[in-house]
Amino acid sequence: MPKNCFNPFNILEFIGLNPSLFLLFVFLVPSVAQAKWFRYTDTAMTTPVELEFWADEKSVADAIAKDVLAVFHQVDRDMSRYREDSELSGLNRKAADDPVQVSTGLFQVLKKAEEVAVLSGGAFDISFGSVGYLYDYRERKQPSEEALQARLGHINHQDIVLDDKAQTVFFRQKGLLIDLGGIAKGYAVDLGIEHLKSAGVRHARLSAGGDLRLLGDKRGRPWLVGVRDPRSENRNVVVLPLADLAISTSGDYERFFIDDQGERVHHILSPGTGKSVRGVQSVTIIGNDALTTDGLSTAVFVLGPKKGLEMIEKLPGIDAIIIDDQRMMHFTEGLAPPES
Ligand code: ADP
Ligand code: MG
Repeated sequence: MPKNCFNPFNILEFIGLNPSLFLLFVFLVPSVAQAKWFRYTDTAMTTPVELEFWADEKSVADAIAKDVLAVFHQVDRDMSRYREDSELSGLNRKAADDPVQVSTGLFQVLKKAEEVAVLSGGAFDISFGSVGYLYDYRERKQPSEEALQARLGHINHQDIVLDDKAQTVFFRQKGLLIDLGGIAKGYAVDLGIEHLKSAGVRHARLSAGGDLRLLGDKRGRPWLVGVRDPRSENRNVVVLPLADLAISTSGDYERFFIDDQGERVHHILSPGTGKSVRGVQSVTIIGNDALTTDGLSTAVFVLGPKKGLEMIEKLPGIDAIIIDDQRMMHFTEGLAPPES
């Protein structure tokens, strides 16, 4: 018999215990002794997904992790603009003809996108996709000035009409294209956390790229979350002790290339010009749910440090850290050290 296996009944004979008492011992003690942190990784929504949580037993943890990781693949199937057969692609094809009824999940994301668009005066605008598809960062492809000008008029979130009662979406103009890259990962992270909660998990950390949510604390200690240096993959500019919160970072280093003029062409676009936003290297938002922090991190990136902080200061329970293009750090009052 292998070294770390044993037959409890031999021991029973050996120590001469009452069998029912012994069974109690066998069932209670190992479940406490085996509880530990379980870690899983995956790739979905073109980004690494990382999950860590405290559970009693490997088989139970594996089953929970399978469900949680499946969420990211499902949200990708529903909300990716790169998939012809996603619900979102169907909407982009049909919503300028007639109102299209959509799933509750997609409607929830579209409602939040509209809320962040209004809050940010249109800096966050999912119809940026009308122009966004002209870029391909891996292929170092960007549109010509003429191509941009021809498509810019199709960016306008006010042309996306959401009917709450019928749960339908209508585009007031043809040629408008939605892209949920700035908000769908946060939605998936929240869904994953709901799964963990309903499976009875009380301490977890779940992230998809720059969107992270913490469930509970790290068993008596806060989780330590690093905000990375936008110009160095393995250096943090700050480490925050956090529990039970969501934190999202948008950076100009996630998807980019340097063009022939030496300009950084990256994935966060100004809805006004259709070009990569200048002036900021990264934005980190802390709040209660990842759907909100994801949308807001992209919105503040577009608004820049001054307007971005003004917007966040008005939102209770939300904080921001901005690193500008001079590598200066700006943060909200809520993160300022207490005066001594
Ligand atoms: P990621 O986690 O992929 O870095 P972010 O939350 O930082 O995502 O958002 C960047 C993504 O947001 C882009 O890849 C694009 O899909 C989308 N996006 C870019 N510009 C805008 C904009 N002005 N409004 C809304 N979404 C945008
Ligand atoms: Mg975002």
